[in-house]
Parts: sequence; C-alpha cells; structure tokens
Amino acid sequence: MGLRRYDRAGAAIYRSPRWKSVRFLAKRRDCWKCVQCGGNGRLEVDHVKPVRDAPELAFDLSNLQTLCGACHARKTRIEVGLAEIDPKRRAWRDLVRNAPQPQAPMEKPNA
Ligand SMILES: [Zn+2]
Repeated sequence: MGLRRYDRAGAAIYRSPRWKSVRFLAKRRDCWKCVQCGGNGRLEVDHVKPVRDAPELAFDLSNLQTLCGACHARKTRIEVGLAEIDPKRRAWRDLVRNAPQPQAPMEKPNA
C-alpha cells in the first residue's frame, strides 16, 4: 500500500503551481535540452532523487534535471525496479515485433 501513498504525494506535486514554475526554471537552466542526450523534443523535468526518496527536494532546482521523454522513461523504468530489458529478451521482442504479422487464421477456404 505504500506505493499508492507515494503516488498520490507525487501527483499533488505535479499538480501544484509551484511545480509548474520550478519546472520552467529547470528547463531554462538546462537550456531547453535533455541533459542526457541533448535532445530538445518533448522535455520533461525529472527528480534526480525520486520524490518518494527525497520529498523535501521535490521543488529543489538542484534536484531537478531536464530529460526528453525517452531518457526520462528509461530512468523511471530503472527506478521502479524494471532494469533495462535483458538483451536476449529485447532481441526476441524486436524479432517478434518486426516479423510480418501473420493473418488471423482464416476459415478453411473452399472447404
Ligand atoms: Zn534524452
């Protein structure tokens, strides 16, 4: 049940006007670029120390970094304990994903 409580605390932060302004300051400080890959697509502001570990730093600029959606998603995955996908599994997943999709089994033609 702990997780849910943290989620709610996080959501309150993200809804607050204070977060909106500090998020702006963080992006401006990072020159509107992802600090990891330099991308400037869809930018998100990430807590270096997750809010659940350091709620007192939720609005602390020194604990914020600008990340693009992809880098942010990767970091979040690791934080929640879903490490990078095992390379073998990823290779398999990509293989499956890229394989031509077989048609759904048809009724027997001309039966
Ligand atoms: Zn990035």
